[in-house]
Amino acid sequence: MHVRDLPLGDEYVAHFREQGIEELYPPQAAAVDAGVCDGANLVAAVPTASGKTFVAELALLSADGPGLYVCPLRALAREKYEEFAELPGVSAGIATGDYDSAAAELADHDVVVATSEKVDSAIRNGAAWIADLACVVVDEVHLVGSEGRGPTLEVTLATLRRRTADPQVVALSATVANPAAVAGWLDAELVESDWRPIDLRTGVYADGAVAFDDGTERSVPVGGPGERGGDATGPEPGGGARTGGDPDRPADDTEATAALVGAAVGEGGQAIAFVRSRREAEELAQRLSEERYANEAGIGMEAAAVAEELRQAGTTEQGERLAECAAWGVAFHHAGVRSDHRSVIERAFRDRELAVLCATPTLAAGVNVPARQVVVRDQRRYTGSGMEWLPTLEVHQMAGRAGRPGLDPYGEAVLVGDPDTETELWERYVDAGPEAVESQLRDRAALRTHALAVVAAGFADSQAEILDLLGETFYAHRTPNPDLGGVVGDVIAELIELDMLAPAPESGAELTATALGEQVSRQYVTPQTGARMVDGLRTVAGMADEDVGPLTVLEILCDTPDMDDTYLGNDERATLYQFARRHAASFTTDMTETDDFEAWLESVKTARVLLAWIEGADAEEIVAEYRIGPGDLESRIERATWLVGALDALADVVGVSTPAIAEVRGRL
Ligand code: ADP
Repeated sequence: MHVRDLPLGDEYVAHFREQGIEELYPPQAAAVDAGVCDGANLVAAVPTASGKTFVAELALLSADGPGLYVCPLRALAREKYEEFAELPGVSAGIATGDYDSAAAELADHDVVVATSEKVDSAIRNGAAWIADLACVVVDEVHLVGSEGRGPTLEVTLATLRRRTADPQVVALSATVANPAAVAGWLDAELVESDWRPIDLRTGVYADGAVAFDDGTERSVPVGGPGERGGDATGPEPGGGARTGGDPDRPADDTEATAALVGAAVGEGGQAIAFVRSRREAEELAQRLSEERYANEAGIGMEAAAVAEELRQAGTTEQGERLAECAAWGVAFHHAGVRSDHRSVIERAFRDRELAVLCATPTLAAGVNVPARQVVVRDQRRYTGSGMEWLPTLEVHQMAGRAGRPGLDPYGEAVLVGDPDTETELWERYVDAGPEAVESQLRDRAALRTHALAVVAAGFADSQAEILDLLGETFYAHRTPNPDLGGVVGDVIAELIELDMLAPAPESGAELTATALGEQVSRQYVTPQTGARMVDGLRTVAGMADEDVGPLTVLEILCDTPDMDDTYLGNDERATLYQFARRHAASFTTDMTETDDFEAWLESVKTARVLLAWIEGADAEEIVAEYRIGPGDLESRIERATWLVGALDALADVVGVSTPAIAEVRGRL
């Protein structure tokens, strides 16, 4: 099937031709056959790099009205927005931040790109433009199964379909075990395929050799640091030599990773190595930079310029380490890296100015950075309950990054194991299919948030109506007799207790949102966060004026569940405890009476970090003194900015005023 045979204007055919898209890939042709250009609902469950964006563009361009593209991450939203903005004659808009507005300006665009949280908050704030949408595309719809944001995604989709006059819904998914269930939920045609534009082979490394799923084997001479290209010397003496104080990571895994990466780079390919933690990513990058990849086979010719660009973007101790690695063609990539540094790295890797990325698993679900070789060094990570295997879907997404169409002859993904884990790795990740998508909407906190939201937005005024709306979710679709009634009843009772919902028999309605409930929903904070803020504000009302200051406000913000946790090291605890005692009068929490003192002390640490920031300390000093990543500082500041806006709005409702709120707001 050819692009010019599609119902598209000549300018689009020319635009796609310029991008190298003329003949449709098989899953794209299947999407056209399924009616994506004729308004049909569609679920496309296909591998990474099989051209999902083009399927989305076909739907958006052929729809009879404005379209919305919903995606999980801001970085992805920006990437898509830039792609859509290049479509001839199309006005594209983007919305990612500011959770307290209806984003009315978006009504002026043909295509709007937004994160699911932004769409959810805009709906709560009465976004009228939603009603006019003719097409809704949801990227990464399998995230409905993720604990954190899954419920928001499914409730938002359910609400969008309810508030919009029969929009076309196109959902793009990774390959999952039950795409038909997702298609059934959305009344959609299903296109399911494992076709990839470039061959991918997956293998497991153990004991000096990789065995691939196509039956081939390759020996991998593993040397020690600085021994690249030498003879096979075997692992370090003792076989189980360990590095860097992590007892779970044998040095062998790192040396095997170095050998695999080195071989790919030596042949002119780029590589991404996935490891379990940020620290591991940085350590691996430092280890690999000893291999001096810059200028190898034409990759990384500009590595010195990349290092300079990183330094120009601003110096932190971490940024300097990153620049030093980059000068040798290697970079680390994780959420603790400053976002402008991350953008430089992504751009440079795409332009082949860097040879290797050492990344945490988040990169696999993020922006489009393919490489010839993917090495998954760690397949387990620490969770609250110990070391756990990564989900198969996540490892498949990492492997799916292998192979750059047009540049690489093939893609190759290798899981690094040893004779003890080899069989398990085959069973879990090579032979097994991915998991099924399962709804997370049973989660009580999520139900509480969404029950309040639908009442506050005026979409429901009784338990029956809340249940009716939730009946459109994936959860209800998947559960034969969803026993939501009992839980929703409990959740409503809790919201009444929190003074966010109230019975309203006199208005003819069963339920109404109170002024507090309305504001909590509009400000897009969870009911628990709203309740913590109200408690804090009431305590402030009883405090002496001279005790109430920015630290008081920051403690409230940082002690809410909507603020990210900050890691507190053992050796920091004593100093922080002293700090907390010294400032006890300024806190809204009595430190001798907290339910969870550790968690509170962590909040105090975040508050102290933010206090240093608003008092004008340098980002560099802060990250060094409090040992947090520059990216973490950025995200804390951003969250605090959002939360202090919410606190300000709730202070009006509760009738408490303190200049400290405006002060923090102005200085963040
Ligand atoms: P994904 O499925 O991961 O979202 P993308 O839509 O980003 O994949 O497509 C991956 C790459 O393939 C892009 O560079 C895109 O331009 C290219 N591509 C998509 N469809 C075609 C096609 N039919 N012919 C040639 N290249 C294509």
